[in-house]
Amino acid sequence: MCGIVGYVGKKPVVPVIIDGLRRLEYRGYDSAGIAVGGVGEGLQLRRAQGKLRNLEEAIRQHPLQGNYGIGHTRWATHGRPTEENAHPHRDCSGRLVVVHNGIVENYLALKKQLIAEGHKFVTETDTEIIAHLLENHVYGTPKHIAAHGGEARAKVKLEDALRATVKQLTGVFALVTISADEPDTIVAARSGPPVVIGIGKDNSEFFVASDVPAVLPHTRDLFFLHDGDIAIVTSSGVRVTDFDGQAIERTVQHITWDPIMAEKGGYKHFMLKEIYEQPRAVRDTLLGRVSQETGKVFLGEMNIADDEFRQMSKLNIAACGTSWHAGLAGKFMIERLARVPVEVDYASEWRYRDPIIVPDSITLLITQSGETADTIAAQREAKAHGSKTLAICNVVGAAITREAEGTIYTHAGPEIGVASTKAFT
Ligand code: GLU
Repeated sequence: MCGIVGYVGKKPVVPVIIDGLRRLEYRGYDSAGIAVGGVGEGLQLRRAQGKLRNLEEAIRQHPLQGNYGIGHTRWATHGRPTEENAHPHRDCSGRLVVVHNGIVENYLALKKQLIAEGHKFVTETDTEIIAHLLENHVYGTPKHIAAHGGEARAKVKLEDALRATVKQLTGVFALVTISADEPDTIVAARSGPPVVIGIGKDNSEFFVASDVPAVLPHTRDLFFLHDGDIAIVTSSGVRVTDFDGQAIERTVQHITWDPIMAEKGGYKHFMLKEIYEQPRAVRDTLLGRVSQETGKVFLGEMNIADDEFRQMSKLNIAACGTSWHAGLAGKFMIERLARVPVEVDYASEWRYRDPIIVPDSITLLITQSGETADTIAAQREAKAHGSKTLAICNVVGAAITREAEGTIYTHAGPEIGVASTKAFT
């Protein structure tokens, strides 16, 4: 769950948003994007794979301006870290955009329904469905629009559309959205990942962000949305309601943290912060994968058949550091539950000790980054001996996942503490 920054006010929006995203960079991300409105027709969008400087370069080549806008740094959970998959995501008309931190658990079912209604999808993300759901509520389905002259005309306000949309979603989300039809307005919703609203100078500028450091250079007066809140932020004020539209009062707090403390969310160090984030990391990792009713487990990126798992003679685990320790704990669990022999090796040693790798064994590689060189070398060794490889990894599209027959992503989000806590759990 990475960075979100939104701004409405008198300053040029693009530098405010880019600077805010930079202050959230410490969280790590794989791509970035921005959408602004208010100058010229419609919304303008720029996105780029990789670092913020790539986005800045895209903006330098094709400058954009606006009075209100939103930006995002993405830590991919669904779909590769490419420019197309970078947020913001658009509806079919291009008049609505959304940025999202989190995971939409029921996105496949919703996508099917939306395609049947005539929506065109251009990304691999779970987030894009949110833009199309909003479109249904604001303008009607593409089939409906086509039957009524083919032009998207807003009939429902963005805040009402977002209220209807969040009720269709299961999963966790911080959502921030803008529309070409509602200038100077940002609408945000929270169910899980944090959303901060910053009250700027003289009540004439307002900020929306996923974390405090992004707004600190501009204001220390802010409040967090609670789960189930929707905020309607305009250049003249902020209104908060619940998902049913009932007005809610939230108290503005004055933050005295210095910027470094703010990055740590008030904790003394990142390690401590990440220890406290473990329950959320476990929840996010299980989202959409375990059926409470049937006890069945669903794993998306799996090209190893159930029968191959049933027939495997042995599981080899290769990993380094904290991941190796996770493997040792995993051995106990897997042998007890599955009654399959498990051997755990330090990935840097494995290939040198001439290991016995039989073709009907499966090799499990554990790596937070998916780029650990020794673990990649172990993967090659396993494959050379005909053993299929399965990766447990925290970074979508990382090297190890591209060569593995199966990947189980841990949705642990960024880890800054050197001792990996969330990914270990
Ligand atoms: N699930 C979304 C994606 O993969 C959001 C990721 C994030 O929280 O940065 O695009």
